[in-house]
Amino acid sequence: MRGISGKTRRMHKVTLPVGERVPAFGLGTWHVGDDAAKRSEELATLRLGIDSGATLIDTAEMYGEGKAEELIGEAIAGRRDEVFLVSKVYPHNATRRGTAAACERSLRRLKTDRIDLYLLHWRGSVPLEESLDALASLREAGKIRHYGVSNLDRGDMDEAWSVPAGRGIETDQLLYNLARRGIEWDLVPWLRERRIPVMAYSPLEQAGLVRNRKLADFARRNEMTPAQAALAWLLARDDVIVIPKSSTRMRLQENLGALDVKLTVGQLAELDSMFPPPSGPQSLEML
Ligand code: NAP
Repeated sequence: MRGISGKTRRMHKVTLPVGERVPAFGLGTWHVGDDAAKRSEELATLRLGIDSGATLIDTAEMYGEGKAEELIGEAIAGRRDEVFLVSKVYPHNATRRGTAAACERSLRRLKTDRIDLYLLHWRGSVPLEESLDALASLREAGKIRHYGVSNLDRGDMDEAWSVPAGRGIETDQLLYNLARRGIEWDLVPWLRERRIPVMAYSPLEQAGLVRNRKLADFARRNEMTPAQAALAWLLARDDVIVIPKSSTRMRLQENLGALDVKLTVGQLAELDSMFPPPSGPQSLEML
């Protein structure tokens, strides 16, 4: 199995529309900070990720109602400039004033003066234009460096693109993995045309892919682990950022090993036959 040695490896990078390059492998944090007994290993895992070049950290005000952001604030103390922080505002907070207030609370918990990329977590009842304007104002004020969206489907993106602040979207964070390929039908091509990278969440299908027998068999035959196969499949695309979550250093090391896997054309074709791409439009899936 690759990547257990902890060696420093070359991090793939993905270019945002604004031109900034960010790590293609980031650290997910949903449920991180929920369990006090896991806290010290979770801190060590985040720090190992940063040491390994996985300096993009994904979080949200929703995660543990702020607990994940607090733990990240602790993990990055003294090394803020090394990391690229992504956080998200709840849709019910995403009014003009509510977004600014939510951002201030996240900044406080993260113990920083700016968020690198701030996302609308999903679309709620606040008009999209108001949320996007609020994000653009926060960028003007220097509270955030970039902004984007999450769980927005093709129609929502068309609407966002029709208002001035929509043109500033730097990513759409979406459920995307071998078992969830629906977005490849029209949303991925739409984003690709505009050079907007996908940030693939739940890239391991919340460990479902690790337990998948077909993928386990493929991985065994190709000297990798199922998690590495699932992540390498996403990393084969140069405009996809993966943000797997793990709360242990051991599994993080394993997952980082995916950066050393270059799937061949034959291996990609075999994965396509096991996990077929969509054959027609599908409504957006989200967790
Ligand atoms: P995920 O990354 O697909 O899977 C995480 C699960 O897999 C955890 O239970 C983890 O357990 C386990 N795992 C990790 N590596 C493993 C390995 N090598 N072998 C076996 N098990 C392994 O799921 P996710 O956390 O839902 O998604 C990743 C991140 O995306 C989240 O943490 C969050 O930051 C973001 N997200 C965003 C949205 C959104 O709406 N925008 C929705 C969902 C997620 P351990 O922790 O015990 O290692």
